Amino acid sequence: MIDTLRLTAYEAAELLRSNQISGAELWEAYRRAIDERDGELHCFLHVCDDAGGDGLPLAVKDVIGTRGIPTTAGSKILEGYVPVYDSTVVRRAKEDHGLRILGKTNTDEFAMGSSTENSAFGPTRNPWDPTRVPGGSGGGSAAAVSAGLAPWALGSDTGGSIKQPSALCGNVGLRPTYGTVSRYGVVAFASSLDQVGPVARNVRDCAFLYSVIAGRDECDTTTVELPHPVELPEADDLRGMRIGVPKELNEAEGIEPGVAAAVQAAIAKLEELGAEVGECALPLSVEYGIPCYYLIAPAEASSNLARYDGVRYGYRADAAERYAMYTRTRDEGFGDEPKRRIMVGTYALSAGYYDAYYGQAQKVRTVIKREHDALFETFDALVSPTSPTVAFPLGARTADPIAMYLSDLLTIPSCMAGLPGLSIPCGLSEGLPVGLQLIGPQFAENTLFRIGHALEQSIAFDPVPERLRA
Ligand code: GLN
Repeated sequence: MIDTLRLTAYEAAELLRSNQISGAELWEAYRRAIDERDGELHCFLHVCDDAGGDGLPLAVKDVIGTRGIPTTAGSKILEGYVPVYDSTVVRRAKEDHGLRILGKTNTDEFAMGSSTENSAFGPTRNPWDPTRVPGGSGGGSAAAVSAGLAPWALGSDTGGSIKQPSALCGNVGLRPTYGTVSRYGVVAFASSLDQVGPVARNVRDCAFLYSVIAGRDECDTTTVELPHPVELPEADDLRGMRIGVPKELNEAEGIEPGVAAAVQAAIAKLEELGAEVGECALPLSVEYGIPCYYLIAPAEASSNLARYDGVRYGYRADAAERYAMYTRTRDEGFGDEPKRRIMVGTYALSAGYYDAYYGQAQKVRTVIKREHDALFETFDALVSPTSPTVAFPLGARTADPIAMYLSDLLTIPSCMAGLPGLSIPCGLSEGLPVGLQLIGPQFAENTLFRIGHALEQSIAFDPVPERLRA
């Protein structure tokens, strides 16, 4: 009997390699778990038929294009769209590693949100407590891994959509360095920020899945070759590591006491493991990160979403003439959050306002990048909570977009700087997982994996939601 709740991808691969199980049995086990639990959780928007093979199943966030498999980005405007080609990340997973697409996971519409409640197809629920959100936008991927519906998953992160749901569901999630993973074939939200990355049950699985997708792709000119190969972490001590604790990321208003306590305890463990831990500051990044993000991301989104006009993809509204067809398609096809962002973004980019808003925000972004860079002269990595709170109840923030935006207060600054961030579970608060964020300089994924792995061994967090434990 395969226990999908406990099995890591590494263990599953070992079982396959030694012929202790077949690819079909493994697939069946995840399909059974989906049949059993996804009615309640709604992690998947589409579940695939077994196309055969002996590779590991992989769940894929529905903003990532998959040939022959519907790709909706959680939006009604893409309902019925079936890509004729694979995104590079999916092609690499399939062709280079034999991974098999298990299904497409739920997401906030166009990855805009922090709770998966903006999905046009209904929310996903948190496996630890189904009255609560799984985080977002990649709540479907995170909840699927946490509930044993997939061994691992791909997500996408613009301002926190891998790190924050991983934190809220008790998983390990990596937002890679901007430019290390191809965006070719991925539904674009904000192109200067979007990155695809892995969600897994532990740091080694996460590192392995990163190695599958990372590296230069000639179809995405923003990608680069990794300066060094991905190393699967082994070490369980952190001697020689210097870790900074940015005051503003650790003492921000709104961080729940239970979250702060779990992260503090983990920081003490970092020291026990031999790391040198020191205080530091990121005042401008934390103060201006969110306002700057909410100019740049909507500006780029307004441009990227202009292509949905009823002609090329998905949904088309009936209308007697062309212009009415465009406007009616967009009116009926987009939900409230994309509309809000298209309006804000169009305004910020309009003649006369461009310099004052978008141009200014780009300058602030440079300041944020420099503020981070300066810290990496002293530290190998920075640590903070991933999310100020544990998973919140469904509906708690839907009426107040600003409250929803503040969910990403701690993840957004490093995203703006293009830096990698790893979230690992570090304990519980009110019975719900608390995520710890490790931020590194560009291309320092191996350092993050090393710190994350050592900390993971020492914390020994049980990633199986309490209510699902046998
Ligand atoms: N929650 C943030 C937003 O709504 C980040 C989303 C993301 O990373 N895709 O834009």
